[in-house]
Amino acid sequence: MARCYAVVNQKGGVAKTTSVINLGAVAALEGKSVLIVDADPQGNATSGLGVSRDEIEYCLYDLICKPDGEAYPAVDEVICPTSTTGLDVLPATIDLAGAQMALANAISREMRLRRVLEPVRSAYDIILIDTAPSLGVLTINALAVADHVLIPMQCEYYAMEGLSQLLQIISMVQAEINPALMIKGALLTMYDARTNLAEEVAEEVRENFPGRTFRAKIPRNVRLAEAPSHGLPAVIYDKHCPGSAAYRRLYWEVFEDA
Ligand code: ATP
Ligand code: MG
Repeated sequence: MARCYAVVNQKGGVAKTTSVINLGAVAALEGKSVLIVDADPQGNATSGLGVSRDEIEYCLYDLICKPDGEAYPAVDEVICPTSTTGLDVLPATIDLAGAQMALANAISREMRLRRVLEPVRSAYDIILIDTAPSLGVLTINALAVADHVLIPMQCEYYAMEGLSQLLQIISMVQAEINPALMIKGALLTMYDARTNLAEEVAEEVRENFPGRTFRAKIPRNVRLAEAPSHGLPAVIYDKHCPGSAAYRRLYWEVFEDA
């Protein structure tokens, strides 16, 4: 039965997608069977894993919000393999941008993703959900199905902005729809050891997440930013770069007992 992790932060550009892709790839290289769910209409996890728009017949949108009367595809018709053995993706396209509107008045709209993933949970060891920079219905769906939340925090000014709102949403989901949800930890990303600011922000994050800030810090590393344009996880594109090494260390902290 897969353990399911939602990677969430409504701040944009904090390395949610980079972390999902590389953690997923390290897990697959370690022999785990991994599904990455792209719950962001930007589709960055999908394209970053080398799955292009013209290969995609159905996307997550078709699984969670078909108009009345139309048949839903089966989830395994939507899941695509990637070039990494053991790593599959449930893709997103821009269609997914219509989900908020399509689900506005839908019954149990927060539970759609949970229902979609039910039949495949036993086929994977780890499911990682990449979310959009928003606390909208798709992110709530991710929190409703997840066992654990990972919160990437960019080591820059304003890192804490919006954090209390995020924690409030997580508490609400725990109270109302998913009591099993736990915050696994905060992840320091784009850490630049040469600046005092990075360490100041790291300290502030540790104060907010005592004992739950991962020791592995992801350094600012251009190889991590280049890899998606080659449709590959950085840990495969350049396995020796410092960013890849950091994601391998993070893997053991996050999934040590998976
Ligand atoms: P969004 O909120 O838009 O979905 P995100 O939180 O998923 O963004 P990413 O797309 O993973 O963030 O990263 C934002 C940008 O920063 C990307 O261009 C990515 O390649 C780059 N990036 C991520 N992590 C690092 C890093 N450690 N070093 C250098 N660049 C990075
Ligand atoms: Mg992203």
